[in-house]
Amino acid sequence: MFLCMSSTIFFSSIYLLIACGSVYGWGGDGHSLTAAIAQTLLTNESLAFVRDHLPWYTSGNISMLASWPDYIIYPDTNPVDYLNWQWSKELHYVDTKDWSCVYNRDEDCNWNTGRQCVDGSIQNYTIRLADTQQDEIQRNEALKFLIHFIGDVHQPLHAGFQGDRGGNSIRGHFFGKETNLHSLWDNIMIERRISQDFHSQPLLYLDYLINQMKTRYAQNTSDWTHCPSSDESRYLACSTSWIIEDAKLNCEIVYRDENNQPMSISKEFDLGQTYYNTRMVILEQRLIQGGLRLATVINKIVQSITDNNKSNKICFGTMMLFIALVCLSIVTLSLLIYSFLRRKTTRIMLLPTIKDKNEYIPVA
Ligand SMILES: [Zn+2]
Repeated sequence: MFLCMSSTIFFSSIYLLIACGSVYGWGGDGHSLTAAIAQTLLTNESLAFVRDHLPWYTSGNISMLASWPDYIIYPDTNPVDYLNWQWSKELHYVDTKDWSCVYNRDEDCNWNTGRQCVDGSIQNYTIRLADTQQDEIQRNEALKFLIHFIGDVHQPLHAGFQGDRGGNSIRGHFFGKETNLHSLWDNIMIERRISQDFHSQPLLYLDYLINQMKTRYAQNTSDWTHCPSSDESRYLACSTSWIIEDAKLNCEIVYRDENNQPMSISKEFDLGQTYYNTRMVILEQRLIQGGLRLATVINKIVQSITDNNKSNKICFGTMMLFIALVCLSIVTLSLLIYSFLRRKTTRIMLLPTIKDKNEYIPVA
């Protein structure tokens, strides 16, 4: 019965988030799908870990709270408390220089100059989650942010151009409906795909994406989960490299119309089937990459905690052995000293006492 309830919660929560969450970030769809892909790739230890660090009602289903960082910052989804979370708004994205086609971490996202961004936030929450000295509330929050931000960073326009606010200011029409470029990538293309090709059933689309990951992209998965830059190998998440991919995609694909012309604020776009057919493949690849990388990061964090616990146990064991050896040495030394002193005292006591020379009668 419990299993039955858990699976009902699992599927209904995905559906619920997908049904109501098409407003922010990747959109509820993108975040739920990315997290649901990741869920299938978690190790048993990671599944237990997420169960321990997410609220009980999720039963360890990371999709259920994948959009939480978006909900907390808006008054319509968090009317009482949204002001307290405004500091986290800038952690969802990074602005890159218009048509520079590169991401420069020192200039575009520098924690020291107060310019926070999704790159730094992924690193920050990765470190916090792996740090067992942090209190539980901080680590639980870190997990929820991490699930979301690794999704966000795979939506190319979350590393879009500064001048058009990541495509939000570029307006136009998609299949005749008014929208902006950012929303097109956040929700609209995904919604169209689910409704047209998967009978409006997000779970069928999830199955399709998982199947694509295991077949079409099976050869790519090890490359996608490996840090291409050696300076990033010290991190558990390679977010800088993922943003570099976004910057390239933006220049070559996202910001170009059906005639390969650059899109801008000054000209309304008019996009349809050609843009949808060619871009949807890239968008799906990003959803799969996001899921794969999210699972890899969580698995790495859990592995590093397990390794640390093991080495702490070994350290503790070695220390106890050392203390035992010291104690044993002290006891042995004390016993030696005691027996030495005792032998000396016995010998003195056994020697004849010569009180008077006359008493000594040498043997003839
Ligand atoms: Zn977001």
